[in-house]
Amino acid sequence: MLGLSDILAVLDRWPTWKALKEAPARIEALEKRLSALEASPTNPETVCPVDGTQMKWEGEVPSRHFGVFGQMDETWRCPACGLARIVQRKPG
Ligand SMILES: [Zn+2]
Repeated sequence: MLGLSDILAVLDRWPTWKALKEAPARIEALEKRLSALEASPTNPETVCPVDGTQMKWEGEVPSRHFGVFGQMDETWRCPACGLARIVQRKPG
């Protein structure tokens, strides 16, 4: 027979259970958004935040902090306003 403490324990688990039931649909939606972003011709990281111009790649150096793991810091510069931006690239 269920006691009050058992019922409370079950109710405590409800938000977690509900979140777990919704997780597959949320993961599928996120995967679709990620695929769409990856397929887009312009990477938002290489578009000038000031004027929206596609920035030009200038060069790359090993990341100051994560270069030992193969991460590179790429320098991109806007041909319109000259703004430079560092974009971190993971290996592979
Ligand atoms: Zn610009």
